[in-house]
Amino acid sequence: MSNSPCPLCMTRYRPMARLKNMSRIADLQDHIKWQSTPFSSWFEGVEKDIEKLYEAVPQLGSVFKIEDKIGEGTFSSVYLATAQLKMGLEEKIALKHLIPTSHPIRIAAELQCLTVAGGQDNVMGVKYCFRKNDHVVIAMPYLEHESFLEILNSLSFQEVREYMFNLFKALRRIHQFGIVHRDVKPSNFLYNRRLKKYALVDFGLAQGTRDTKVELLRMVQSEAHQERCSQHKAHIVMANKVSVSVPAPKALPQSSTQTAAKRPYSHAQSQTKQGKDGKEGSVGLSVQRSVLGERNFNIQSSISHESPAAKLIKQPKLMDMTSRKLATKKKVVSTKTVPSNVTRKTASVCPPNLTCDCYATDQVCSVCLSRRQQVAPRAGTPGFRAPEVLTKCPNQTTAIDMWSAGVIFLSLLSGRYPFYKASDDLTALAQIMTIRGSRETIQAAKTFGKSVLCSKEVPAQNLRTLCERLRGTPSLAVEKQETHAHESTLSLGSDQQLKLPLQMECPGSSFHEDGRAASGVSMREPQASVKGWDQVPHEAYDLLDKLLDLNPATRITAQEALVHPFFREMSL
Ligand code: ADP
Ligand code: MG
Ligand code: ZN
Repeated sequence: MSNSPCPLCMTRYRPMARLKNMSRIADLQDHIKWQSTPFSSWFEGVEKDIEKLYEAVPQLGSVFKIEDKIGEGTFSSVYLATAQLKMGLEEKIALKHLIPTSHPIRIAAELQCLTVAGGQDNVMGVKYCFRKNDHVVIAMPYLEHESFLEILNSLSFQEVREYMFNLFKALRRIHQFGIVHRDVKPSNFLYNRRLKKYALVDFGLAQGTRDTKVELLRMVQSEAHQERCSQHKAHIVMANKVSVSVPAPKALPQSSTQTAAKRPYSHAQSQTKQGKDGKEGSVGLSVQRSVLGERNFNIQSSISHESPAAKLIKQPKLMDMTSRKLATKKKVVSTKTVPSNVTRKTASVCPPNLTCDCYATDQVCSVCLSRRQQVAPRAGTPGFRAPEVLTKCPNQTTAIDMWSAGVIFLSLLSGRYPFYKASDDLTALAQIMTIRGSRETIQAAKTFGKSVLCSKEVPAQNLRTLCERLRGTPSLAVEKQETHAHESTLSLGSDQQLKLPLQMECPGSSFHEDGRAASGVSMREPQASVKGWDQVPHEAYDLLDKLLDLNPATRITAQEALVHPFFREMSL
């Protein structure tokens, strides 16, 4: 155990509560190395947190009885509370307490998304909002929901169809208001299987499109921009240090069974809190290993940044001394800029970038080292990020949410969650390449002005074959495959020159490895065929293909998805 402080602790980390959220399990793996809090202290922790919340926002006490903490992330804690109604009736409410350090505009924008777009079409609404000083609590109707991971392999094909249809309804609704959610993933799309109820939650990272109807999102943009600008200096320093390291190999699980065994915390914690509120991360028997996970290796990366010279000129104050000095060594030639009145179809086209001395080599030249970091939003979860987000395309649209929906659909069709698991953007991009093909990815990136290099060519996979193999559909003859890893060096040219020696598992090969994959699923679920999984129509994979379109300009929209033949029998 290291003596140095856990980087997560420094960001207000509470280990147990966060265990409930699988999407943060990667953080947890790092955290476990630092932490050894006994379980009992967690319960005390929740009680203390509830007490503190009553103290911070006393008016809550006269309305609610706060029962439990049901979610905790970096920017909020969510509690289950009951409100006393007339005639002894009780109403369940979810209370989201935003961290007091959140920017007021950010908080107001999140609230405005809920009030403007929420309350219908599967978008969570808001009942009340409480504030005292810098503490803000958003009260929403409580929707009891499933753990995505726990139900993933018991869903019928029809349920998957309904799930996706309802997700697109929610996305169409928010996109109509010019809201880009930016963090579409199962833990933000609540699903009550029994009641067939759905709710898109968490607008904490949302941004507005150019013509957004949510006024405060316009202000968030500039706010976020400022934040990124201040982060920029730190990045420049990083760029010159050029080293990113990842936990040592032994810390990473080789399979799901080993995961539980090797990590004493995850097992015991899962017993204490598992599944209570259908949290996505109810860690326990159903822990899955991602299809595309990271083996552990010390990734050395060389990071440098470039953006069109036009921007450098416009925002000279953004350059710190290091970059300014280096920038004088070689002139950066100006490139085209995107007109501000571009439409949705062309908005994703970023200015084409330049090559330099180190293009296609494994070196980073001083020109690249001098380049300023491109400013582009990167919020979200790496495994759900669209290629244009991963490559920092500055003009991002609602299409990024459709990509994330595609990744959810990929999990539902393959029975694997998380599907992609990467701690950094280039690993995530390399993982996308192994499914969608390296040439195709490089080609698409060109359309939005990004040059991506990959040391090894990997072909695109047939989505049906891939999903059926991973799911172990009964009709399919399953041949045992040898696991192997391949080396792949990926580098991102133009604005960045990031070169990572990556070792990734082939998607097909991780199949069988974790003891619950493929054939294991069909044995556990003999009724798989009656659940419709033996007759997945062509339309399902056609829709998946259109969601995972590498090019955001041609990617299917929520409105189009709802009228896709896959949903022929569903009524809007
Ligand atoms: P964060 O920004 O911390 O991710 P979220 O808004 O996503 O906050 O909420 C975190 C978790 O709390 C969700 O994944 C969900 O499990 C739970 N949650 C949030 N809102 C509700 C709600 N209205 N009803 C039930 N559970 C909710
Ligand atoms: Mg969330
Ligand atoms: Zn270079």
